[in-house]
Amino acid sequence: GEHREVDPSAELERRGRAYAPLQGHYYLRPPQIERGWREYLIDTNGRHYLDMVNNVTALGHGHPRLAAAVADQWRMLNTNSRFHYRSVAEFSERLLETVPAPLDTVLLVNSGTEAVDLALRLARAHTGREDVACVSESYHGWSVAADAVSTSVSDNPLAEQTRPSWVHVLEAPNAYRGRYRGAGAGMHYARDAVRQIEAWSAEGTPIGAFIAEPRHGNAGAIEVPDGYLLKVYAAIRADGGLCIADEVQVGYGRQGDVFWGFEQHPGVVPDIITVAKAMGNGHPLGAVITRSEIAQSLAAQGTFFSSAGGSTLSAKLGTTVLDIIRDEGLQENAGAMGQRLLEGFARLSERHSLIGAAHGRGLYLGLELVRDRITLEPATAETRALCDRLLQLGVIVQPTGDRQNVLKIKPPLCVSTASIDHFLDALDTALSDAI
Ligand code: PMP
Repeated sequence: GEHREVDPSAELERRGRAYAPLQGHYYLRPPQIERGWREYLIDTNGRHYLDMVNNVTALGHGHPRLAAAVADQWRMLNTNSRFHYRSVAEFSERLLETVPAPLDTVLLVNSGTEAVDLALRLARAHTGREDVACVSESYHGWSVAADAVSTSVSDNPLAEQTRPSWVHVLEAPNAYRGRYRGAGAGMHYARDAVRQIEAWSAEGTPIGAFIAEPRHGNAGAIEVPDGYLLKVYAAIRADGGLCIADEVQVGYGRQGDVFWGFEQHPGVVPDIITVAKAMGNGHPLGAVITRSEIAQSLAAQGTFFSSAGGSTLSAKLGTTVLDIIRDEGLQENAGAMGQRLLEGFARLSERHSLIGAAHGRGLYLGLELVRDRITLEPATAETRALCDRLLQLGVIVQPTGDRQNVLKIKPPLCVSTASIDHFLDALDTALSDAI
């Protein structure tokens, strides 16, 4: 018979009639994705795409072992009503094996937003303070509180005008294009931040919590410069506040050499960690990891309960994800494939002047595109065009950051050498076409 292509734009109109127009799409004409396998997505016309952006599906799409574990647990029991369940204790113990002392307590929720919201509540309960310090160009979630500390202009153009008075913003410590650059930038940014923290305290709004990603994912995998977190954490604590590391994007094995982003900063141990995305491989699962005394402070003010957060299914799934990361060597693969990408970018940057810098390590990378390597003028339109061209070539990758000129590269951790090389070839072609 005649082969008839599905028209994705007709399907898109259908969605537009029934579903709120709030969530943006990748691409003007997004493909309609029907299936996934490892680091590949397959659309309703059977076309395959290499998914270089999905850091939620860390194990890869359609993982059979995870699917089997979920199906088994679903048949046996999925609830979170107030009895007690072995799988919750098991998963919490496994999570605690990944963190240093004195972190000793887990709370399970359903998303990164919920983890951030709960972290802010914990800090408020523990310090008795409302004020929160965050960093510019960040995203932490969509709830009232998580949105308030989200400073990214590309996610929320009205962020500055709508910011509540309890939110205080520190300048993002970007050593590539910020106020201070190169070696030593961390110390300069930290000095300014410490002064700011002391000033807020003197003004009568001492900071209860400082929240930041330990690598600036939303801004484009930008390294938080050496020494910055250590100094800022010390200042926050000296002033009586708590430090929250948002590991929703950058943590959970993706860095390759370390499991958590904060481990890249010697001596840095957060008071509260927020995590989600990869820990559920796409299933709604998030967590807060903290110290028992901080959890006690919230317990003293009331209960915390989530109908599905920390269900038997979520806990079993969470443990299975950790098993698969270990058994398939996915953290090690993230390190090796990240290295291969960085070497590839270094080669491409010799021939393509659009490449300004490659940020990050492991499988959380940002390729920053500039019109001029001296002025660092962001190549925003070129980045968009490059992504559209890459889609034609069967590769999914997207811009990020306030200037939308950084390609965020964060594929499933199972990505193969062949797929990395395919990506680098496609990028080479697309960059050549862009000139
Ligand atoms: N924190 C960070 C750093 C994030 O990137 C995100 C999601 N992009 C969130 C929190 C919110 O997570 P979720 O979408 O699971 O609510």
